[in-house]
Amino acid sequence: MFVHTCSACHRRELIFPSQVLAVDNTEHGIVVRFACWCDAEQTLVTGVDASRPAAVPAAA
Ligand SMILES: [Zn+2]
Repeated sequence: MFVHTCSACHRRELIFPSQVLAVDNTEHGIVVRFACWCDAEQTLVTGVDASRPAAVPAAA
């Protein structure tokens, strides 16, 4: 359960596990896809990698 401000209805609501549609572990962090109470699909990036700056390739 977490709090999210919806980009469609602009309301700050609690999101429950039953609203989660998918969880993907990516190189940019954990991407949680869920449905807001207004039925708009939203995403949240969380996890340790979410706060890390993007990796910069080493100069040759
Ligand atoms: Zn909403």
